[in-house]
Amino acid sequence: MRHFLLNEEKQMRVHIRLFKFLILFLILSGSISLRAQEEPKGAFIMTVTGKVDLENLGSILPHEHVTTDFLGAEIAPQPRYSRDVAITAILPHLKNLKKIGYSLFFECTPNYIGRDVKLLKALSELSGLKIVTNTGYYAAVNKKFLPKHAYTESSETLAERWEKEWQEGIEGTGIRPGFIKLGVGKGPLDAIEEKLLNAAILLHKKSGLQMAMHTGDGEAALSEYQIIMKAGVDAENMIWVHAQNGKDEERLALAKKGVWISLDGVSSEKIDSYINMIRILKENQLLSRLLISHDNGWSVEDENGTINLIPFDRGKNVPYQTIHEVLLPRLQKLGFTKVEIDLITTENPIKAYSLKP
Ligand SMILES: [Zn+2]
Repeated sequence: MRHFLLNEEKQMRVHIRLFKFLILFLILSGSISLRAQEEPKGAFIMTVTGKVDLENLGSILPHEHVTTDFLGAEIAPQPRYSRDVAITAILPHLKNLKKIGYSLFFECTPNYIGRDVKLLKALSELSGLKIVTNTGYYAAVNKKFLPKHAYTESSETLAERWEKEWQEGIEGTGIRPGFIKLGVGKGPLDAIEEKLLNAAILLHKKSGLQMAMHTGDGEAALSEYQIIMKAGVDAENMIWVHAQNGKDEERLALAKKGVWISLDGVSSEKIDSYINMIRILKENQLLSRLLISHDNGWSVEDENGTINLIPFDRGKNVPYQTIHEVLLPRLQKLGFTKVEIDLITTENPIKAYSLKP
């Protein structure tokens, strides 16, 4: 009997030892993590506070701004405002977004027009709203926002600069961009615009980062699409930002190819024209290509020697509110279902911007 018990005890000890080994092996192999906060294993969105997975995201705004400085590239050290003043002005609006069900916000101000990732991170931590920033350059408005090196460097070198931001973070902050943002004017792309798009394509191929392009008109959008096709990149990787500047037939043609149609600048004054554009996409079964945003934000203005932050439309609309308060109720009245509203406000932005592991 005693002999039997001893054997059983020995067996038990062997089992415990094996179990300990198994746990150690799982920890070392990475199957079990000791960290409380695990990074997402599947598709994700890269925010200024790190990767977030795609589960349980609420409504999303795919094209907004916080602060934008229209002074021009490489003229004055940035930012020209005090971050505390900016936080006081902007934080209540982000907290309100969180309260009405928004979880995530794409901040589309590129480098050299006032991108301020430290401010974005502070605002994100204080409001609980996730914010995504970008890499890339903006060539619209007569190249006013391009640094000198954008003229002299090759698309490969420019892509390397942006890739460094993606790999290591922006300007030593460790904050990584979640998409590529470009800006082009009207008509077919000129040589510089095409070079910047080629740089974006190079980085897209390496990183999967989506290409969102502020685009002057439908002709410019078609030109971007053709360059992307020639490079062998799928149309779903192109986001036509400010597609409201094009015509219905141009939007439908590119949406049918798979391009994302981003109608930004929703405001109460122009609400009927936005409803019309959305209705036409719906009639053509293309709601699955639609993104909507306000394109709101604050402009950094020097007013008699004082730097002030002025809302883009000088306060005509409360920033970031019109879609929730005016547009969506109008769409519901027109018979848009909850499924269609969720598609526009949540599913489409996730599909447009999510990254594969
Ligand atoms: Zn914008």
